[in-house]
Amino acid sequence: MKHVTEYSKQELNDMLKELTIQFQEAKKLNLKLNMARGKPSADQLDMNMGLLEFPKGFMLEDGTDARNYGVLEGIPECRRLFGQLLGLDPDLIIIGGNSSLNLMFDTISFHCLFGTEGEKPWSFYGYEGSPVKFLCPVPGYDRHFQICGELGIQMIPVPLLEDGPDMEMVETMVREDASIKGIWCVPLHSNPQGVCYSDRVVDRLASMETAAPDFRIFWDNAYGVHHIYEEVPLKNILEACEAGGHPNRTYYFFSTSKITFPGAGVSLIASGPDNMKELKGHLSSQTIGHDKLNQLRHVQYFKTPENIRAHMKALAKVLRPKFDMVLKRLEEELEGSGLAVWSHPKGGYFISLDTLEGCAKRTVELAKEAGVTLTGAGATYPYKKDPKDRNIRIAPTYPTPEELKAAMDIFILCVKIAGIESVVNQGN
Ligand code: PMP
Repeated sequence: MKHVTEYSKQELNDMLKELTIQFQEAKKLNLKLNMARGKPSADQLDMNMGLLEFPKGFMLEDGTDARNYGVLEGIPECRRLFGQLLGLDPDLIIIGGNSSLNLMFDTISFHCLFGTEGEKPWSFYGYEGSPVKFLCPVPGYDRHFQICGELGIQMIPVPLLEDGPDMEMVETMVREDASIKGIWCVPLHSNPQGVCYSDRVVDRLASMETAAPDFRIFWDNAYGVHHIYEEVPLKNILEACEAGGHPNRTYYFFSTSKITFPGAGVSLIASGPDNMKELKGHLSSQTIGHDKLNQLRHVQYFKTPENIRAHMKALAKVLRPKFDMVLKRLEEELEGSGLAVWSHPKGGYFISLDTLEGCAKRTVELAKEAGVTLTGAGATYPYKKDPKDRNIRIAPTYPTPEELKAAMDIFILCVKIAGIESVVNQGN
């Protein structure tokens, strides 16, 4: 398609008529396709079935019986495996339960309830009428925003640029406003655009001056080993924070949700020594220990970080054709049309697409009418408010290749209809 501005109004109206006929035809197919959530496909899950043969044996290397209570921080062999994989000190890792999101929620809750560094608990500020604030690079992950919403933390959107958040803006705001207590970061293959943070951004985050002594970075490295097209390195934020004189600034999160089985994997949190001590104190009132048999299962199945990387390469082989297909269809149908721009991720789980201003909601609604469920427009912004109503998150991993092809055909049709309608209406 030529650029939308190169068509006359008559031509656009004719196109719209033609596209509407195609849309009505598509509706008759009664399809039920889903590109909404970043879930692995059954094919990917099948590649993990070996995990269920473990654990074989239950005695830990230090003689502890994994079937029984205890070991709050997680079994040493599991902390070592993930420590090696991510370049983290095993002594500064706690292995959690089946969800890193759970650890994020709990960690922030602890700050809301108990506070840290001798500062007031974060929820106090809310009772006094001026809630604490988090910086939220946008577009971002909706469940991070949901945590803030639930805990009464005010969200300030910050643009996510090509190599991380707009650091000029971040540095100025955290230097001047002591009520800004945190920032969300998905530093590799971010959800939804696939942004990877540069070393320079990591260093600036680690060393910036903050008005709040209890300012924290919530470093959600959910896609830390999830390379699809290219292996992207990531500077170690905990080391950078230590070097910058702020050893307790960052909480680092990771999980095997998209390595093994989502909802049945293991998660981890890592941070500086004081934070870990504090966290263990709070956690010990919450649980006697997480599921050691599951930790052991993961250790016995993978054995080494190299095996995890090899497993991710095998998963990437399943994912690549799906990403290829989405990108190819977008390129064939929308490149140069002026109706949309989209990301070209090197890994992760999503492709992010921006429609013309004011067209994302309409596009998602149209797609739904034709049987294709997408992540709700606005979900990638705090309070579900995309100020320009442009961003749509495409999750290509779950459908089969055939379903994905059918879903993309409809999606593209909807992007075109919504975009052309808006151009035609503007001309009125
Ligand atoms: N963080 C990000 C950025 C994610 O995309 C997801 C999964 N969609 C999660 C966390 C959830 O992780 P978990 O299953 O470990 O709770």
